[in-house]
Amino acid sequence: MPGEKRTLVPVYSLMVATEPLGDAFWDRAGLEARATFTDYRHMIIYGQRTADGRIAFGGRGAPYHFGSNVRPSFDSTPAVHALLRQTLVDLFPALDESRFTHAWGGPLGIPRDWHSSVGFDPRLGLAWAGGYVGDGVATTNLAGRTLADLITGSDSDLTHLPWVNHRSRPWEPEPLRWLGVNAGLWTMKLADRTEERKGHPSRLARQMERLLGQ
Ligand SMILES: Cc1cc2nc3c(=O)[nH]c(=O)nc-3n(C[C@H](O)[C@H](O)[C@H](O)COP(=O)(O)OP(=O)(O)OC[C@H]3O[C@@H](n4cnc5c(N)ncnc54)[C@H](O)[C@@H]3O)c2cc1C
Repeated sequence: MPGEKRTLVPVYSLMVATEPLGDAFWDRAGLEARATFTDYRHMIIYGQRTADGRIAFGGRGAPYHFGSNVRPSFDSTPAVHALLRQTLVDLFPALDESRFTHAWGGPLGIPRDWHSSVGFDPRLGLAWAGGYVGDGVATTNLAGRTLADLITGSDSDLTHLPWVNHRSRPWEPEPLRWLGVNAGLWTMKLADRTEERKGHPSRLARQMERLLGQ
């Protein structure tokens, strides 16, 4: 939208899914209650057993595109999808022989301070919600109920939550934005490799996280 180019940065999250896996796999893998799982690497990964017995597994790592460009073709980065498949096999070596049947992705809206918000300006008659930083499945529900109360003028517990009318400062103009966001992605990849080799937390990653407002 005009005037909002620096409000959110689109950071891509990509996913893959396996074929439905047999009982032999699930008996060994656990995950009976379909718990979500991740680990503490800097380049975020996340996975879950689906209702039809697959593993859906995702992660960051796709590049940020200059000018906050968003295109359907960016939803697929073959190298990142290949890395996700390899990472899942590293976590569950028993998947080595399994087929991956799906691959997809999309952009997440990231505000400068990583703080989602909902708000309403009665003077302009404009309401907004967003900046879910990739955690929007449940947050959109809360946002919708909060917006309903704000718009109808109901004073409720929801309208006093700290994210109501919160304003994040804008992202830097280009080319600083491109340099900063992609430097963040490269640093996190490097930090994971360094930590794996040396076995202690990366100071560089901590500094970059601070710089990017995480
Ligand atoms: C790969 C990936 C993995 C994710 N994983 C998670 C996760 O594990 N947990 C989590 O909490 N969140 C996750 N998210 C984020 C989550 O999906 C979003 O935050 C959430 O879906 C946002 O909900 P929404 O209703 O605002 O938008 P959306 O779910 O995007 O819904 C918007 C809808 O509006 C439609 N639309 C758009 N424009 C128009 C138009 N002009 N006319 C009519 N219809 C239109 C779209 O087709 C779409 O159906 C993930 C996102 C991605 C991309």
